[in-house]
Amino acid sequence: MSDYKLLRSTGDLIYKFISSNKYASAAGLALVVVCSLLYRSKRFLSESGTSKKRRKNISKDALIDVLFFSNENAMCQDHINDGNTCSDDCGAQKLLTLVEYLDMAKESLDVCVYTITSIKLAEAVLRKFNEGVAVRVITDDSMAYGDGSQIPLFRRNGVRVRAEPSQNLMHHKFAVIDRKVLVTGSFNWTQQATFGNWENVIITSEPEEVVQRFSDQFEKLWQILD
Ligand SMILES: [Zn+2]
Repeated sequence: MSDYKLLRSTGDLIYKFISSNKYASAAGLALVVVCSLLYRSKRFLSESGTSKKRRKNISKDALIDVLFFSNENAMCQDHINDGNTCSDDCGAQKLLTLVEYLDMAKESLDVCVYTITSIKLAEAVLRKFNEGVAVRVITDDSMAYGDGSQIPLFRRNGVRVRAEPSQNLMHHKFAVIDRKVLVTGSFNWTQQATFGNWENVIITSEPEEVVQRFSDQFEKLWQILD
């Protein structure tokens, strides 16, 4: 029997049941609600099954991007201000692409980066903070007040920053956007990394388990540094 026929005959039965006994209306109505919920949950299960299957491959909904910076981007700093793009490989364009990803944050932005001197990236963090996004920053204490560090700017504006003096370095370079998108790689958020160094950054929403583990690690560090 098809789903449609099954539903029709179930409906007919319920109708007959209700018609034959006026005291059974409430029970009949409850039965309709239960049937409807069962039907909907069956649809939900089959939809999530499909979605899981699709995600085994690269889902079209998945966000995956990789940015490579190199010494050829050394002259690209000017292109931030003049808006010119020197090539498909322009460092300024890649930086602005990274800024666009950070700008996707709607709820939270967790940043755990060894050193932050990039003005554009710092502006993006502050912009999100001013929009009401829950921004948290973990960084290395020894770098927090170094030349060009943007950490004092964050602190002056009320962004929560945690860093503790230690013999060891807080050497991570990752961020998690809305607990769903991971930004990670060799890339410190510095002018030097953007306009001179050979660096990589991957921006990805998949695999979800990996993004989750970075998010959990941020949470753990945040508690430890409290
Ligand atoms: Zn350029």
